[in-house]
Amino acid sequence: MRVGRGVLLVLGLLGGTACGGGLTPLPPGGAPRPVERAPGPPSPAGARPAAPGPLEAGVTEADLDALWARQLMVPVAGMAPSALRNDYDARRGARAHRALDMMAPKGTPVLAADDGRIGRVGTTPIGGNIIYATDPDEQFVYYYAHLDRHARGLSVGDRVRKGDVIGYVGTTGNAPASVPHLHFQVMKRGNGRAWWDGPPINPWTLFVLPGTSVR
Ligand SMILES: [Zn+2]
Repeated sequence: MRVGRGVLLVLGLLGGTACGGGLTPLPPGGAPRPVERAPGPPSPAGARPAAPGPLEAGVTEADLDALWARQLMVPVAGMAPSALRNDYDARRGARAHRALDMMAPKGTPVLAADDGRIGRVGTTPIGGNIIYATDPDEQFVYYYAHLDRHARGLSVGDRVRKGDVIGYVGTTGNAPASVPHLHFQVMKRGNGRAWWDGPPINPWTLFVLPGTSVR
């Protein structure tokens, strides 16, 4: 990957990224493993699980089917789908979270949840070091925040494969310093507004693969 111009974008229009409150620190000395193990989403075998809550305006059941077909990978190395907590509807300050927080020690590799293209790489006051990526068909947007750092050389336009290391878990932005985690959000591509600002989708039941680095 080459470092191109415009890699570091300062984004001022981020929504739904606040992680400031209500988070539980990891115990000290933990290996790169999740701390929350129950209750997990249903087994990924077979039919897509029902959505865990109402869909946002503009999101359809067909969208969930399309995401299920992507066989999404948990984007934290060593984390299984069953380890994820559903904090999509949790309050984060004045707004709803609309994302999942994946607790892991600082420095744990953050992996591409899907094949696709890197759309933004930058740093923001709330999200800290952030990445936006798309699926191969550019129907969906994946947002990764609070990274300790980006993978070296990661650039806008890069093609990534599921499991590629794109960054490392951290506490940048408004994440509590004692609670390193990945803030991960799935959105439908924006329609009539910025491509990265479409309606969010709760991915809790849509992960099929555990986080496994391919490189
Ligand atoms: Zn969060």
